[in-house]
Amino acid sequence: MASFIPVSDQSDFSFFNLPWGAVRWTDDSVHLATRIGDTVVSFKKLRAAGFLASFPELENETFNAFIDRGTAAWSAVRAEVSGLYAEGSAWEANAKRGTCEQPAAAVEALLPVHIGDYTDFYASRQHATNVGMMFRDPENALLPNWLHLPVGYHGRASTVAVSGTDVVRPNGQRKGPNDPAPVFGPSVKMDFELEVGIILKGGPRDASWIPVDTAEDHIFGLVLFNDWSARDLQQWEYVPLGPFLAKNFASTMSPWIVPYEALLSSRCAGEDQSNPAPLPYLQQNRAGSHWDLELEVAIVCADGSETVISQSNAKYLYWSFAQQIAHHTINGCIIQSGDLMASGTISGNEPGSYGSMLELTWNGSKPITLANGGKRAFLEDGDSLILRGWSTGKTRIGFGECRATLLPSKPWSK
Ligand code: MN
Repeated sequence: MASFIPVSDQSDFSFFNLPWGAVRWTDDSVHLATRIGDTVVSFKKLRAAGFLASFPELENETFNAFIDRGTAAWSAVRAEVSGLYAEGSAWEANAKRGTCEQPAAAVEALLPVHIGDYTDFYASRQHATNVGMMFRDPENALLPNWLHLPVGYHGRASTVAVSGTDVVRPNGQRKGPNDPAPVFGPSVKMDFELEVGIILKGGPRDASWIPVDTAEDHIFGLVLFNDWSARDLQQWEYVPLGPFLAKNFASTMSPWIVPYEALLSSRCAGEDQSNPAPLPYLQQNRAGSHWDLELEVAIVCADGSETVISQSNAKYLYWSFAQQIAHHTINGCIIQSGDLMASGTISGNEPGSYGSMLELTWNGSKPITLANGGKRAFLEDGDSLILRGWSTGKTRIGFGECRATLLPSKPWSK
C-alpha cells in the first residue's frame, strides 16, 4: 500500500513506518505526531479535524498515557492514519488537510516520552568480551554470570536528550594503571556507544513480573541510542558497583520511535543459547527473538567531513529485548510507561562492526584515520557523532539520525 504523499525509496520514513514523535509546531505548541517521508502529521490537528476520536491522549505533549493503552490502541491509530493517507483516500483533497501537516524541516523534534527510568543493559557478547579483555583479564574476559543473565545497570533519565542536543565533555577523576594517584580534569577518553533502545509500556505493580513470552507486548517501539561514555572515568570508578559518572552526564536518543508493529517483518533468529541454557524464566523461542536492523556510526568533523567508522546490526545482541524485560521484572521491579531500556553497546564479531571507540581503536592504541586525514583515538571537541539504523526488508523502515556534537568541558572552579 502506498500513500498519496510521495516518499523516496531511500527515506527512513516509508508509509509503513509511521513512527511516533513529538514536535514543536509552527505556533510553538507541542504536538504528538507521525511522519510520512518528509511530511510531519500532527495527531492533535487530526483530532481537531474529526479523526482519532477514541484517543484523547494524543493531545498530550508526551506519549506516556497513550502507551498505557496498549497494543490494540497503538495498532488502531496506525490503521486509521494508514487508511487516511492511502492512495485514493478522500482526505487527499480535503481542505482541512493542510492544517495537519508541516514539512519536517519546519518543526523541531522533541523527546516524545517522559522517561521516568532508564536502564542500560550489556547484551552484546562481543562488546562484553572486548571490554573484559581491555579492562580486566584477557583469559577471563566474560565474567561467570554473563551467559546466565542479561547484565544491566540503572542509568539516569534526567540527562537523556533528543538528537541534536549538544553534549559537554565531562570533568571527573581518572587514574590510569601506572598513575600514582588520581587526577581531576576533563575526560581524555570520550566515547560513544552504539545501542538500540526500547520504549516500554508499564508492567504489573503487585511484585509479579512480565513473562518472557508476553514481554514484547510491552514494547511500544525502538529508538537509536548513544550512551556517551568517558572511558578514563569509567575504568577508575566502575568497580565494584558499575558505571556511574562515566555515563550519566549525557545520552542521546533518536526522536522518532519506530513502532514495534512496523518492524515485525525484520524479526530474525538470535544466537544459540544452549550452552549454557538460560534458566526457565529466560527461555525463549529463538526463531524470531531478534531484529535484523542495519546500524551505522559516523563521525562528522568540525570541517563538515564525514567518515563512517562502524557498520553493525542489532541481530548481534546475545540477550533479546524480551529476555531483558523478563529479567528486569522477575524480582517485582515496576516498569512504568515511557521507561527506556537500552541494549548496551552492540558490537559484531569483526573489528569494523564494533560499537565504540574503545573497541574500534582498542583503547586508543590503534587510532582511526578519518576521511579528512585526521586521526582519532577517542572523540575530540567539535566532533559530531551520528548513529543511523534501518531495516533490511523490501520497504525501508529506519530511525532517522541520532546525532550530537561534543563541546569542550566547562572550566572547573570551586
Ligand atoms: Mn551503554
